[in-house]
Parts: sequence; structure tokens; C-alpha cells
Amino acid sequence: MRATIPTQGRTKEDVLGELDQFAADDVDYAHGKTWSLVYWPGDAHYDLVSAANLRLLSANGLNPMAFKSTKRVETDVVQMTAELLHGPASTVGTMTSGGTESLLCAVIAARERARAKWPWIRRPNIVIGETVHPAVDKAAHWFGVAIKRVPVDADGRAPAAGFRRKIDRNTVLVIASAPSYPWGVVDPIPEIAALAKSKGLPCHVDACFGGFILPWLERLGVAMPLWDFRVDGVTSISADLHKYGYAPKGASVILYRDMSYLRHQFFVATHWKGGVYASPTVAGTRPGGPMAAAWASLVGMGEDGFLSRAKEAWDGAEALRKGLRAIPGLRILGLPHSTIVAYASSDPDVDLYAVADLLEAGGWSVDRQQAPPSLHCTVNAANGPVIDKYLADVRAAVDAVRADPSLATKGNAAVYGLLSAVPLTSVSERAIRDVMAGMYAPGDAKESGPPGGPMVERAARAVKRARDAWRSVAGSR
Ligand SMILES: *Cc1c(COP(=O)(O)O)cnc(C)c1O
Repeated sequence: MRATIPTQGRTKEDVLGELDQFAADDVDYAHGKTWSLVYWPGDAHYDLVSAANLRLLSANGLNPMAFKSTKRVETDVVQMTAELLHGPASTVGTMTSGGTESLLCAVIAARERARAKWPWIRRPNIVIGETVHPAVDKAAHWFGVAIKRVPVDADGRAPAAGFRRKIDRNTVLVIASAPSYPWGVVDPIPEIAALAKSKGLPCHVDACFGGFILPWLERLGVAMPLWDFRVDGVTSISADLHKYGYAPKGASVILYRDMSYLRHQFFVATHWKGGVYASPTVAGTRPGGPMAAAWASLVGMGEDGFLSRAKEAWDGAEALRKGLRAIPGLRILGLPHSTIVAYASSDPDVDLYAVADLLEAGGWSVDRQQAPPSLHCTVNAANGPVIDKYLADVRAAVDAVRADPSLATKGNAAVYGLLSAVPLTSVSERAIRDVMAGMYAPGDAKESGPPGGPMVERAARAVKRARDAWRSVAGSR
């Protein structure tokens, strides 16, 4: 049955009680069993940021004249981030709702800048490392910009030489990661940015993940390439507050080396009967709550808080890497630049997706990756206490899969195996679209929770159809 607005408003207890019920089956993020999605800061910090969120919950950052509060918060956050990332005095930027919006802004600003500077470019392209987050694909897709991808080396880095080969006269921007999400590796930014500068191109560093963790890791002595504004050719950086900034969801920053880049991000309409309309980011109305909460997170955490949490997260990541290396049949992907740990199988008898199913059955939230099949862990302070238990469960799962290879052909393992094996991406894209259409179909509330149950079975059917379609196409040639 379709949900309707109740004829009579319900009580607070009733409403909040039902929300709690909705959340009862969500992944458990406060006790370390989830390796992504939530960067749990602990109860005390959570209390602070939720109270701060309420302070500006109704404020609208769209109009900085009406809401000096949100403008002040935004200015402070931009400046604190610029200082952290060694931006020159000219550094400017805006807050956004998240990494995707920051990347949308970076791409549209580069496209608009190119339109103004090089009006003869009709088919703009951007050159990116192949591990760059798909939010950039979304931006390019929406804004009519082509993407050229630079393959990564065995360590997961997109080499400058690859960028040199791909850049052409229609290129308007290059993007590299610090670090990339899949393997947690920092690209060779000094070489890439120098190349971009020599070609007169802007260089964006996607530090959505790393922006608020790498600076602290560097202070703790972790070795990684330079990647922030200390690198001469870096012209913009995105950094998510709602990841290692420990802010609640809905907050990120996009910074530019100077106003000559940021001005192309602004949108102005002067013709409207509603008056002159000016908007700095993708959003129109800009919710004040997440902005206030992000500000409170930075000043409430302080350098001491960030450093101690970064140390715990790093120690956890190192313990995890060490433990995984000691399990026969597994290998770590990429270089240890960050708190992301990704591991793959090194033994043909160990299907990693089958390992994933067993871990999930044991209550772990699991992130599956592809090419090669691998599992992804974002380590936070909250994960520290469970690392030994996780390693023991991984070891047991690897042994179980080796003992019973048929596990690879059952359950979710079969689905993910199929998905990564279907060679026509347009066919698998179609299958996923079908699954999403099912999830958003009219009628009863749909099961959209973690993998398992009818949703996955539907995905399996869609993928099998896709595979059969592909086989019949391939067979008819
Ligand atoms: C999370 C992430 C993004 C996207 O950010 P959202 O907040 O999910 O929109 C982009 N790039 C990297 C490297 C990320 O980790």
C-alpha cells in the first residue's frame, strides 16, 4: 500500500519511535563492524555536532546577507581548511553538501573557465587517473565533458607519463587523487601538477577522502608524496568534512588557489521576475545545519583531537595490513599511504566474493570491489577494538572457501562474480538500472538495505539475463 500523510499529526514519541524502528536493521557503525559510510567520532563529539546542527537547522546559506551566521561559518571552514592544506593567502572556496557536489563544482568551473579562455574548444575533455571517484564521471556526464582515463601502475598510481599521452588540445582540466578511494593510494601529484602547469591547464586534487586525514598522518610521520597546495601546479582541492572531518553528513569543501578559478563556479541569472538570482554552488537553498555542524566539528576536535584519532586509525590500518599479509591466499593492493586497506586473493582456489559472503554472514559490513575482485576497509578509530576479531574471521572464511570451492557459485558471490565477468559494460549497466528501477518502483516500501534477500536475487536474475543476452550476441558472430 502507498504511504500517505496521516490525517492527524502524530506525537513526537510516536514519530521518533518509528524512525528508530526504521534504523534498527541499519549497519552497525558505532562498534567498528562497518568499514565505510560512517566515520564515527564517538559519543561526545557526536553530541557536539548534533547540537551545532540544530543551532542553524533552519538557516539558509543561499542568502549570505540574510544569514550572516552561515556566511561566517563558511568563511571560517574555508580558511581553516586552506590553512591545513597549505593554501597561499589568495586561497578561496565554498562549502558544499558533499564530495560529489565539490567535484561537480570543480568540473563546471574548469569547463566555464575554458569557455572564457579558449572559446574554440567545442568538445572539452578532462584527463583523470582511472581510480578517480565516479562522481567525476557523473559531473562529466551531466556537463557534457568527455573523460580520458590514465591507467594506474601495479601500485595503483596514475603516472604523469600517462597524463602526458592523454592530454590534447581539447583538454580543460586534469584530476588526480589523494588518495584514490579503491586502494587508498596517493597519485604522483608533483609530477602530474607540473605537467598540467607546463600545458597551462588547471589541476584538481580529489582529496575528498584524504583532505582531513592525510595532513595528520603526515605529521605522524607517514611517508607519502606531497599533494596539497605546496605543490605549485595544484589549482583546486576537494576535501570532505563528513568523512575524516567527523562532521555529520552533508558537508565538504572545494578550494581554489585564487579567485580567477572560483569565479567560474558562480551562477548568476539577471532576467528573472523573482529578482537577480546568484548561487555559489550546485544547491540553491543551502541548509545551515550541516554547515554549522562541520564548523563545530573542526573547532571542537582541534589539532589534538584530530591527531589522536588519526593515530588510532593509522595503527588500526597497519595492524590490519600486517594481519592480512600473514593470511596465505591474500594480498594487499596498493601502497600504504592512508587508512584505506584493500585486499585481493592471490590463490585461484580462494574466491574473494565467497569470502565476502561468509564475512557478511558473520555480521561484518563488506565492500566489494572489482578488477581485481577485492575487499575495501576504511579504518577509523572505532574499528581498532575489532581488528583482531576481523582478522580471525577473514582467516576462517579463507579456509572455508578453500575447503569448499562451490561457495563461489552460491549466493551473492555468484552475482558479483557474474557482474565482474560480464564483459559488455552497457549490458551490466542495463541490469543494474533494472535493479534500481525495482527499488524505486511505486507501491510498498522497498527493501533497499544491505545485500541479502530478494533484492540480491533480483539482481542475480537481471545479471543472468544480461549474461545470456551477451552470450547470444557473442554466439551469433
Ligand atoms: C567519498 C568520495 C567522493 C564522493 O563524495 P560523496 O560525499 O560521497 O559525494 C569523491 N572522491 C573520493 C576520493 C571519495 O572518497
